[in-house]
Amino acid sequence: MLVDVTGTPDFTAKPKIELHVHLDCSLTRRALHRLGNPIGEADFARVYTAPERCSTLLAYLMAIEPSCAVLQTAGALRIAMEELMRALAGDGVIYAEIRFAPHTHQRQGLSLDEVMEAVTDGLTAGSNATGLHAGLILCALRDFAPAQNRPVIELAHRWQGRGVVGVDLAGDEATHAAAANRRIFDRAHDLGLPITVHAGEAAGPDSLSEVIELLRPARIGHGIRAIESEDILAEIKARNLHLEVCPSSNIQVGVFADYGDHPVDRLSRRGLSLSINTDARTVAPLTLSLEYRRLAKCFGWQTGEFLAHNLEAVRHAFLPEPDKADLSARLIEGWGAND
Ligand SMILES: [Zn+2]
Repeated sequence: MLVDVTGTPDFTAKPKIELHVHLDCSLTRRALHRLGNPIGEADFARVYTAPERCSTLLAYLMAIEPSCAVLQTAGALRIAMEELMRALAGDGVIYAEIRFAPHTHQRQGLSLDEVMEAVTDGLTAGSNATGLHAGLILCALRDFAPAQNRPVIELAHRWQGRGVVGVDLAGDEATHAAAANRRIFDRAHDLGLPITVHAGEAAGPDSLSEVIELLRPARIGHGIRAIESEDILAEIKARNLHLEVCPSSNIQVGVFADYGDHPVDRLSRRGLSLSINTDARTVAPLTLSLEYRRLAKCFGWQTGEFLAHNLEAVRHAFLPEPDKADLSARLIEGWGAND
Protein backbone atom coordinates (compact mmCIF):
# COMPACT_ATOMS: atom_id res chain seq x y z
CA MET A 1 0.00 0.00 0.00
CA LEU A 2 1.40 3.39 -1.02
CA VAL A 3 -0.07 5.20 2.00
CA ASP A 4 -2.38 3.85 4.72
CA VAL A 5 -5.19 6.43 4.61
CA THR A 6 -7.17 4.96 7.50
CA GLY A 7 -8.71 7.73 9.58
CA THR A 8 -8.50 10.42 6.90
CA PRO A 9 -11.65 12.23 5.70
CA ASP A 10 -13.60 11.14 2.63
CA PHE A 11 -13.18 13.91 0.05
CA THR A 12 -15.46 12.38 -2.60
CA ALA A 13 -18.24 14.96 -2.22
CA LYS A 14 -15.87 17.95 -2.13
CA PRO A 15 -15.68 19.94 -5.38
CA LYS A 16 -12.39 19.49 -7.19
CA ILE A 17 -10.59 20.61 -10.34
CA GLU A 18 -8.46 18.23 -12.39
CA LEU A 19 -6.14 19.71 -15.01
CA HIS A 20 -3.93 16.71 -15.79
CA VAL A 21 -5.46 13.34 -16.64
CA HIS A 22 -4.76 11.16 -19.69
CA LEU A 23 -7.64 9.49 -21.52
CA ASP A 24 -5.58 6.46 -22.51
CA CYS A 25 -4.44 5.90 -18.91
CA SER A 26 -8.01 6.14 -17.58
CA LEU A 27 -10.03 3.51 -19.48
CA THR A 28 -12.74 2.31 -17.11
CA ARG A 29 -14.07 -1.23 -16.60
CA ARG A 30 -17.55 0.09 -17.33
CA ALA A 31 -16.35 1.31 -20.74
CA LEU A 32 -14.96 -2.15 -21.51
CA HIS A 33 -18.29 -3.71 -20.52
CA ARG A 34 -20.13 -1.37 -22.87
CA LEU A 35 -17.68 -2.37 -25.60
CA GLY A 36 -18.63 -6.01 -25.15
CA ASN A 37 -15.78 -7.14 -22.90
CA PRO A 38 -17.29 -8.53 -19.66
CA ILE A 39 -13.92 -8.41 -17.85
CA GLY A 40 -14.03 -9.02 -14.09
CA GLU A 41 -12.43 -6.84 -11.45
CA ALA A 42 -9.36 -9.03 -10.89
CA ASP A 43 -8.58 -9.43 -14.59
CA PHE A 44 -9.12 -5.70 -15.15
CA ALA A 45 -6.58 -4.91 -12.43
CA ARG A 46 -4.11 -7.46 -13.80
CA VAL A 47 -4.30 -6.28 -17.41
CA TYR A 48 -5.00 -2.53 -17.24
CA THR A 49 -3.21 -1.27 -14.12
CA ALA A 50 0.51 -1.01 -13.41
CA PRO A 51 2.17 -2.00 -10.11
CA GLU A 52 2.02 0.75 -7.42
CA ARG A 53 5.76 0.95 -7.77
CA CYS A 54 7.07 -0.01 -11.20
CA SER A 55 10.52 -1.58 -11.25
CA THR A 56 11.12 -0.08 -14.68
CA LEU A 57 9.48 2.54 -16.88
CA LEU A 58 8.86 -0.32 -19.30
CA ALA A 59 6.60 -2.01 -16.72
CA TYR A 60 4.54 1.19 -16.56
CA LEU A 61 4.37 1.60 -20.34
CA MET A 62 3.35 -2.05 -20.72
CA ALA A 63 0.33 -1.32 -18.54
CA ILE A 64 -0.81 1.50 -20.87
CA GLU A 65 -0.59 -0.58 -24.05
CA PRO A 66 -3.73 -2.70 -23.48
CA SER A 67 -5.79 0.51 -23.10
CA CYS A 68 -4.18 2.03 -26.20
CA ALA A 69 -4.93 -1.13 -28.13
CA VAL A 70 -8.65 -0.79 -27.27
CA LEU A 71 -8.83 2.93 -28.12
CA GLN A 72 -8.44 2.52 -31.89
CA THR A 73 -12.05 2.78 -33.04
CA ALA A 74 -14.53 5.65 -32.99
CA GLY A 75 -16.89 3.67 -30.75
CA ALA A 76 -14.20 2.86 -28.20
CA LEU A 77 -12.98 6.48 -28.05
CA ARG A 78 -16.51 7.82 -27.66
CA ILE A 79 -17.46 5.39 -24.90
CA ALA A 80 -14.10 5.70 -23.08
CA MET A 81 -14.49 9.48 -22.95
CA GLU A 82 -18.12 9.35 -21.84
CA GLU A 83 -17.27 6.88 -19.07
CA LEU A 84 -14.24 8.88 -17.94
CA MET A 85 -16.57 11.86 -17.57
CA ARG A 86 -18.84 9.74 -15.35
CA ALA A 87 -15.85 8.64 -13.28
CA LEU A 88 -14.68 12.23 -12.86
CA ALA A 89 -18.15 13.41 -11.84
CA GLY A 90 -18.41 10.53 -9.36
CA ASP A 91 -15.11 11.68 -7.86
CA GLY A 92 -16.49 15.17 -7.20
CA VAL A 93 -14.65 16.82 -10.09
CA ILE A 94 -16.47 19.98 -11.26
CA TYR A 95 -14.11 20.92 -14.11
CA ALA A 96 -11.55 18.75 -15.90
CA GLU A 97 -9.03 19.10 -18.69
CA ILE A 98 -8.54 15.68 -20.30
CA ARG A 99 -5.57 15.05 -22.56
CA PHE A 100 -4.62 12.53 -25.22
CA ALA A 101 -2.34 12.20 -28.25
CA PRO A 102 -4.70 11.91 -31.26
CA HIS A 103 -2.02 10.41 -33.50
CA THR A 104 -1.74 7.33 -31.25
CA HIS A 105 -5.32 6.32 -32.05
CA GLN A 106 -4.87 5.75 -35.79
CA ARG A 107 -3.73 2.11 -35.87
CA GLN A 108 -6.97 1.01 -37.53
CA GLY A 109 -7.13 3.87 -39.99
CA LEU A 110 -9.06 6.62 -38.20
CA SER A 111 -8.20 10.08 -39.50
CA LEU A 112 -7.23 12.71 -36.91
CA ASP A 113 -10.57 14.46 -37.42
CA GLU A 114 -12.42 11.15 -36.96
CA VAL A 115 -10.56 10.69 -33.66
CA MET A 116 -11.69 14.17 -32.62
CA GLU A 117 -15.31 13.56 -33.68
CA ALA A 118 -15.44 10.41 -31.56
CA VAL A 119 -13.80 11.97 -28.50
CA THR A 120 -15.89 15.14 -28.62
CA ASP A 121 -19.08 13.05 -29.06
CA GLY A 122 -18.10 11.19 -25.87
CA LEU A 123 -17.34 14.46 -24.14
CA THR A 124 -20.77 15.83 -25.03
CA ALA A 125 -22.54 12.62 -23.99
CA GLY A 126 -20.62 12.55 -20.69
CA SER A 127 -21.31 16.20 -20.06
CA ASN A 128 -25.04 15.76 -20.75
CA ALA A 129 -25.18 12.74 -18.43
CA THR A 130 -23.30 14.31 -15.52
CA GLY A 131 -23.39 18.10 -15.88
CA LEU A 132 -19.58 18.09 -15.72
CA HIS A 133 -17.80 20.67 -17.88
CA ALA A 134 -14.50 19.56 -19.40
CA GLY A 135 -12.00 20.62 -22.04
CA LEU A 136 -9.57 18.64 -24.19
CA ILE A 137 -5.81 19.06 -24.41
CA LEU A 138 -4.10 17.52 -27.44
CA CYS A 139 -0.63 16.06 -26.81
CA ALA A 140 2.31 16.21 -29.17
CA LEU A 141 4.88 13.56 -28.19
CA ARG A 142 8.61 13.93 -27.58
CA ASP A 143 9.27 10.48 -29.06
CA PHE A 144 7.53 11.41 -32.33
CA ALA A 145 9.17 13.43 -35.11
CA PRO A 146 8.13 17.09 -35.36
CA ALA A 147 6.60 16.26 -38.75
CA GLN A 148 4.25 13.85 -36.95
CA ASN A 149 3.46 16.38 -34.21
CA ARG A 150 2.75 19.36 -36.43
CA PRO A 151 -0.66 18.04 -37.57
CA VAL A 152 -1.69 17.74 -33.90
CA ILE A 153 -1.19 21.48 -33.42
CA GLU A 154 -3.17 22.25 -36.58
CA LEU A 155 -5.86 19.82 -35.39
CA ALA A 156 -6.06 21.60 -32.03
CA HIS A 157 -6.53 24.89 -33.88
CA ARG A 158 -9.35 23.43 -36.00
CA TRP A 159 -11.11 22.05 -32.91
CA GLN A 160 -10.47 24.97 -30.58
CA GLY A 161 -13.85 26.16 -29.37
CA ARG A 162 -15.32 22.72 -30.20
CA GLY A 163 -13.88 20.95 -27.15
CA VAL A 164 -10.16 21.65 -27.43
CA VAL A 165 -8.74 24.14 -24.92
CA GLY A 166 -4.98 23.68 -25.30
CA VAL A 167 -1.96 21.62 -26.34
CA ASP A 168 0.72 19.67 -24.49
CA LEU A 169 4.07 17.96 -25.07
CA ALA A 170 4.17 14.51 -23.47
CA GLY A 171 6.38 11.44 -23.94
CA ASP A 172 9.83 10.36 -22.81
CA GLU A 173 11.51 13.38 -21.23
CA ALA A 174 14.64 11.48 -20.19
CA THR A 175 15.75 10.63 -23.72
CA HIS A 176 14.07 13.26 -25.92
CA ALA A 177 14.83 16.97 -25.51
CA ALA A 178 12.01 19.43 -26.07
CA ALA A 179 14.12 21.54 -28.47
CA ALA A 180 13.19 19.37 -31.46
CA ASN A 181 9.59 20.57 -31.10
CA ARG A 182 10.34 24.26 -30.66
CA ARG A 183 8.91 25.31 -34.03
CA ILE A 184 5.77 23.28 -33.45
CA PHE A 185 5.15 25.23 -30.26
CA ASP A 186 6.05 28.53 -31.92
CA ARG A 187 3.18 27.70 -34.25
CA ALA A 188 0.89 26.94 -31.27
CA HIS A 189 1.74 30.37 -29.85
CA ASP A 190 0.99 31.99 -33.22
CA LEU A 191 -2.39 30.25 -33.27
CA GLY A 192 -3.20 31.44 -29.76
CA LEU A 193 -3.36 27.93 -28.30
CA PRO A 194 -2.77 27.70 -24.53
CA ILE A 195 0.23 25.47 -23.82
CA THR A 196 1.21 23.06 -21.06
CA VAL A 197 4.31 20.83 -21.27
CA HIS A 198 5.35 17.71 -19.36
CA ALA A 199 8.77 18.43 -17.80
CA GLY A 200 10.74 18.13 -14.60
CA GLU A 201 9.71 14.55 -13.84
CA ALA A 202 12.02 12.05 -15.56
CA ALA A 203 14.61 14.84 -15.99
CA GLY A 204 15.62 17.69 -13.72
CA PRO A 205 16.16 21.46 -13.76
CA ASP A 206 17.98 21.50 -17.12
CA SER A 207 14.92 20.06 -18.81
CA LEU A 208 12.66 22.56 -17.07
CA SER A 209 14.91 25.42 -18.08
CA GLU A 210 14.89 24.23 -21.71
CA VAL A 211 11.11 23.93 -21.81
CA ILE A 212 10.49 27.30 -20.16
CA GLU A 213 12.87 29.12 -22.52
CA LEU A 214 12.07 27.36 -25.78
CA LEU A 215 8.40 26.34 -25.56
CA ARG A 216 7.15 29.13 -23.24
CA PRO A 217 4.28 27.15 -21.64
CA ALA A 218 1.68 28.65 -19.31
CA ARG A 219 1.69 25.48 -17.20
CA ILE A 220 4.04 22.57 -16.58
CA GLY A 221 2.93 18.96 -16.24
CA HIS A 222 4.67 17.71 -13.06
CA GLY A 223 7.56 20.19 -12.76
CA ILE A 224 8.29 18.80 -9.30
CA ARG A 225 12.04 18.51 -9.80
CA ALA A 226 12.12 22.31 -9.77
CA ILE A 227 12.75 21.68 -6.08
CA GLU A 228 16.36 20.81 -7.07
CA SER A 229 17.18 24.35 -8.23
CA GLU A 230 16.61 27.71 -6.56
CA ASP A 231 17.09 29.39 -9.95
CA ILE A 232 14.32 27.34 -11.55
CA LEU A 233 11.99 27.89 -8.60
CA ALA A 234 12.54 31.64 -8.96
CA GLU A 235 12.01 31.45 -12.73
CA ILE A 236 8.72 29.56 -12.35
CA LYS A 237 7.48 32.12 -9.84
CA ALA A 238 8.64 35.09 -11.91
CA ARG A 239 6.81 33.79 -14.98
CA ASN A 240 3.69 32.87 -12.98
CA LEU A 241 3.84 29.27 -14.22
CA HIS A 242 1.49 26.70 -12.74
CA LEU A 243 2.60 23.16 -11.86
CA GLU A 244 0.17 20.29 -12.47
CA VAL A 245 1.40 17.99 -9.70
CA CYS A 246 0.55 14.26 -9.73
CA PRO A 247 2.16 12.79 -6.57
CA SER A 248 1.12 9.12 -6.76
CA SER A 249 2.00 8.95 -10.45
CA ASN A 250 5.52 10.20 -9.69
CA ILE A 251 5.96 7.56 -6.99
CA GLN A 252 4.62 4.87 -9.31
CA VAL A 253 7.31 5.51 -11.93
CA GLY A 254 10.03 5.79 -9.29
CA VAL A 255 10.88 9.52 -9.27
CA PHE A 256 10.66 9.38 -5.45
CA ALA A 257 10.96 6.31 -3.24
CA ASP A 258 8.12 7.10 -0.84
CA TYR A 259 5.11 9.39 -0.73
CA GLY A 260 6.64 11.29 2.19
CA ASP A 261 9.68 12.11 0.01
CA HIS A 262 7.52 13.86 -2.61
CA PRO A 263 8.23 17.63 -2.79
CA VAL A 264 4.58 18.68 -3.26
CA ASP A 265 4.30 19.98 0.30
CA ARG A 266 7.62 21.84 0.10
CA LEU A 267 6.60 23.38 -3.24
CA SER A 268 3.30 24.41 -1.72
CA ARG A 269 5.00 26.03 1.28
CA ARG A 270 7.38 27.86 -1.08
CA GLY A 271 4.30 29.53 -2.55
CA LEU A 272 4.35 27.97 -6.01
CA SER A 273 1.10 27.84 -7.93
CA LEU A 274 0.19 24.16 -8.15
CA SER A 275 -2.76 21.81 -8.50
CA ILE A 276 -3.24 18.18 -7.51
CA ASN A 277 -4.02 15.70 -10.28
CA THR A 278 -4.21 11.95 -10.89
CA ASP A 279 -2.43 11.76 -14.29
CA ALA A 280 -3.68 8.17 -14.76
CA ARG A 281 -6.89 6.98 -13.12
CA THR A 282 -6.78 3.37 -14.29
CA VAL A 283 -3.09 2.66 -14.72
CA ALA A 284 -2.53 3.93 -11.15
CA PRO A 285 -5.41 3.11 -10.15
CA LEU A 286 -6.42 6.34 -8.49
CA THR A 287 -9.07 8.97 -7.79
CA LEU A 288 -8.50 12.56 -6.73
CA SER A 289 -10.35 11.75 -3.50
CA LEU A 290 -7.76 9.07 -2.68
CA GLU A 291 -4.89 11.38 -3.63
CA TYR A 292 -6.26 14.01 -1.24
CA ARG A 293 -6.44 11.39 1.57
CA ARG A 294 -2.78 10.55 0.96
CA LEU A 295 -1.87 14.25 1.16
CA ALA A 296 -3.92 14.62 4.34
CA LYS A 297 -2.19 11.63 5.89
CA CYS A 298 1.43 12.34 4.83
CA PHE A 299 1.54 16.12 5.00
CA GLY A 300 -1.41 17.06 7.21
CA TRP A 301 -3.16 18.93 4.41
CA GLN A 302 -6.56 20.28 5.38
CA THR A 303 -9.30 22.41 3.84
CA GLY A 304 -6.99 25.43 3.56
CA GLU A 305 -4.46 23.65 1.35
CA PHE A 306 -7.05 21.83 -0.76
CA LEU A 307 -9.15 24.91 -1.40
CA ALA A 308 -6.11 27.08 -2.19
CA HIS A 309 -4.73 24.61 -4.74
CA ASN A 310 -8.13 24.10 -6.37
CA LEU A 311 -8.49 27.87 -6.70
CA GLU A 312 -5.01 28.00 -8.25
CA ALA A 313 -6.11 25.29 -10.71
CA VAL A 314 -9.07 27.44 -11.73
CA ARG A 315 -6.88 30.52 -12.05
CA HIS A 316 -4.63 28.67 -14.51
CA ALA A 317 -7.33 26.62 -16.27
CA PHE A 318 -7.60 27.11 -20.02
CA LEU A 319 -11.00 28.75 -19.61
CA PRO A 320 -12.66 32.15 -20.18
CA GLU A 321 -12.69 34.39 -17.08
CA PRO A 322 -16.49 34.26 -16.46
CA ASP A 323 -16.33 30.45 -16.25
CA LYS A 324 -13.49 30.77 -13.75
CA ALA A 325 -15.49 33.03 -11.46
CA ASP A 326 -18.33 30.51 -11.36
CA LEU A 327 -16.01 27.59 -10.57
CA SER A 328 -14.19 29.55 -7.86
CA ALA A 329 -17.50 30.37 -6.18
CA ARG A 330 -18.50 26.69 -6.23
CA LEU A 331 -15.16 25.70 -4.71
CA ILE A 332 -15.41 28.24 -1.91
CA GLU A 333 -18.97 27.17 -1.15
CA GLY A 334 -18.14 23.46 -1.24
CA TRP A 335 -15.00 23.58 0.87
CA GLY A 336 -16.43 26.07 3.29
CA ALA A 337 -19.34 23.82 4.19
CA ASN A 338 -19.06 21.32 7.04
CA ASP A 339 -15.54 22.38 8.05
ZN1 LIG B 1 0.87 13.21 -17.71
